[in-house]
Amino acid sequence: MALDPSRLRAEFPILSRRIGDRPLVYLDTAATSQKPRAVIDAMTRYYEQMNANVHRGAYRLSEEATAMYEGVREKVARFLGAPGPEGVVFVRNTTEAINLVAHAWGRKFLKAGDEVLLTEMEHHSNLVPWHLLAKERGVVLRHIPITDDGRLDLSRLDALLGSRTKLVSLVHVSNVLGTVNPVEDVVRAAHRVGALCLVDGAQAVPHRPVDLAAIGCDFYAFSAHKMYGPTGIGVLWARPEILAGMDPFMVGGETILEVRLDRSTFREAPYRFEPGTPAVAEAAGLGAAIDWLTALGLDAVEAHETALVDHAWRRLAEVPGIRMYGPSSGPRAGAVCFTTDPIHPHDLATCLDQDGLAVRAGHHCAQPLMTRLGTVATARASFGVYTLPSEIDLLVDSILRTREFFGCR
Ligand code: PLP
Repeated sequence: MALDPSRLRAEFPILSRRIGDRPLVYLDTAATSQKPRAVIDAMTRYYEQMNANVHRGAYRLSEEATAMYEGVREKVARFLGAPGPEGVVFVRNTTEAINLVAHAWGRKFLKAGDEVLLTEMEHHSNLVPWHLLAKERGVVLRHIPITDDGRLDLSRLDALLGSRTKLVSLVHVSNVLGTVNPVEDVVRAAHRVGALCLVDGAQAVPHRPVDLAAIGCDFYAFSAHKMYGPTGIGVLWARPEILAGMDPFMVGGETILEVRLDRSTFREAPYRFEPGTPAVAEAAGLGAAIDWLTALGLDAVEAHETALVDHAWRRLAEVPGIRMYGPSSGPRAGAVCFTTDPIHPHDLATCLDQDGLAVRAGHHCAQPLMTRLGTVATARASFGVYTLPSEIDLLVDSILRTREFFGCR
């Protein structure tokens, strides 16, 4: 069934806020989504009814909290189409998930001359952890280039893959271009040369159905806060047999089997990767976000947002001096990036804010991509289930007013 964003908006308390005398027009969902009442209530309920530490107490509250926390692990596995909860590691966010792989898998299994293949459209969180590894271990980094219209240039893939390639790590949906990458094809190509494949799903999970069985990757990462859940929790999914071979990254309570004064032994995965007291209330929020999104239907979410992106491309084309970045046709998800010469994106975003519009301006944590696109910054409008086509019309009106203010035609 098609989404009814006008009805859904009533479930988001923040969307009734005003910015000055204007209603809030929130077009920065790619940075973080707003939270529906169901998620806020689930976290409040945890604190009011169940608050206790997990995996520790022999009393009712702790047992209930543990059952909830482990139940969310199972829910995440079902949501992703993973065979079971053993591969679900709770982390803080996508950034931590990728760092975990770079530390616990990369530092154990990669040596000088081994290659990690990335792409030109990665978020910094899928670049910088590999830079450290390259510096420390002599691992060689290669990059799949992008075409001028912001798609991966897969004609170069076979030439970039070889017996030295140990990992291919790429973004599922670009946070800048909105490009939906054909990750299944890249995973198959990586596996043909014996490499593993990590997919950064931060911008995919909130916007379209994700089925790990179909994708076939070895690692998948996402953050709850971009999919209507809370900040402070994210997921690394890893094939259990790969996780079992990885050494712990951060250690302490919860990760161990037995500790002596001079040594320790570690629990099985995923627990050996979750040191200390976890984000329990946030897990309750993540579980509620998954239930909420599942009830909406990810197919309906995808259809709604594809229509929004198409509408945005059509309407923004009316703005004089506009330059759009990314594929001019699908598959695209969630975000549109643009500049309106000669106005700097930061000035544009500041002026849009006067009209109550929240858009992001800058390099979007993708400086190498900005260089490839021939700019240092862009403006980005990004959408969610609550976004209305009329909000995109307000964006266009506000950009036109800003151009007038700057004396541009
Ligand atoms: N990867 C992509 C594609 C993103 O868009 C983001 C955040 O914008 C991240 C990774 C990092 O997510 P987080 O800040 O939640 O770790």
